[in-house]
Amino acid sequence: MVLSQDSLAVHAGRQGLTELGVHAVPIDLSTTAPLPSVEGGGLAYEHMATGGAHADGQSTVYQRLWNPTVARFEEGVAVLEGTPEAVAFATGMAALSAVLLAVVAGGKKHVVAVRPLYGGSDHLLASGVLGTEVTYTTPEGVHAALRPDTGLVILETPANPSLELVDIALVTAAADGIPVLVDNTFASPILQQPFKHGATMVLHSATKFLGGHGDAMGGVVAAAPEWTARLRRIRAVTGGILTPWPAYLLHRGLATLPVRVRAQQSSAEKVAVALNEHSQVQRVYYPGLPDCDPQGIIGTQMAGPGSLMAFELADAGHAERIPSAVRMITHAVSLGGIDTLIQHPAGLTHRPVEAGAKPHAALLRISVGLEDPADILADLVQAIESTR
Ligand SMILES: *Cc1c(COP(=O)(O)O)cnc(C)c1O
Repeated sequence: MVLSQDSLAVHAGRQGLTELGVHAVPIDLSTTAPLPSVEGGGLAYEHMATGGAHADGQSTVYQRLWNPTVARFEEGVAVLEGTPEAVAFATGMAALSAVLLAVVAGGKKHVVAVRPLYGGSDHLLASGVLGTEVTYTTPEGVHAALRPDTGLVILETPANPSLELVDIALVTAAADGIPVLVDNTFASPILQQPFKHGATMVLHSATKFLGGHGDAMGGVVAAAPEWTARLRRIRAVTGGILTPWPAYLLHRGLATLPVRVRAQQSSAEKVAVALNEHSQVQRVYYPGLPDCDPQGIIGTQMAGPGSLMAFELADAGHAERIPSAVRMITHAVSLGGIDTLIQHPAGLTHRPVEAGAKPHAALLRISVGLEDPADILADLVQAIESTR
């Protein structure tokens, strides 16, 4: 029986529960597992520490190597992204770090990065602390930026915080066979599945839409076994594992992901249109507005414009006063959760980004939640008008 993505979101990773006699996914908190014998335990250890997946009937040995609750979340993400496998980490940044370490371990240290990226990713690459060397470029500049030692091309779409859309297939073609990592955090697999457009690896900060409730951190990379095996090996030896309790919450979040993404998107469309008409708003960046998607990516690569937007005021001073004036909305970083958040990218999430590549200081970003869109808009309008 072929299930739709909505049904898969509810059921993926829940196999075998009936046989276990339970209905909810069990949270297995064991840090260690019984070994059948020195030889059997040793072989299982060696298999998983070198990137192998846990085999049925084998001991899981130690939580840093394998955990069944985490594996169920990974299965859910792989199914939704349409990839053979996925590997989960403690955070989105731990996931990106593992990818960069795997690239360096493969003997290539140069990374081509399409800007803008999430501030933390930009900072990690710019700092070079993991032994990588970065060239920042545009989607059109990717081919010219490749070097013989290029091991990875990285891009984000929609981009953070300006919501620019990148044509993934265009970049994967320009990458000439070099692996391409797409950070799909903003779109979620409900609106976009980069693997189908040629991406080698799909990364999520699961902390955002996948978990969706602002109460669990995690990161995940969905890919084919060639890469998931390398990432499991890096995870086993460096220890950036996702632990069972957040894994359970993140997995539970997947079940409502399609419903949340659609409801939040529908509200965001209304908020974006109304903000765009407000006299004190200079410009709204939202892929669903006319002129914000010149390449026609919505409806082809991306199923809808999503629930993140940014808007620009006439001056930075006004923009900086607004987050302190909202009443129902929360002034906080992060995104993709059940409640609406507002933040100032240049002062917060993109603070470590070098001056020339920083977002505009009069720009604010909103992640639209599940509240009534009329309340979200009323709160924004009162905050904009009371702080001018
Ligand atoms: C939050 C975020 C990250 C980092 O994830 P953490 O879970 O905070 O480590 C990476 N990319 C994007 C697009 C993000 O929004």
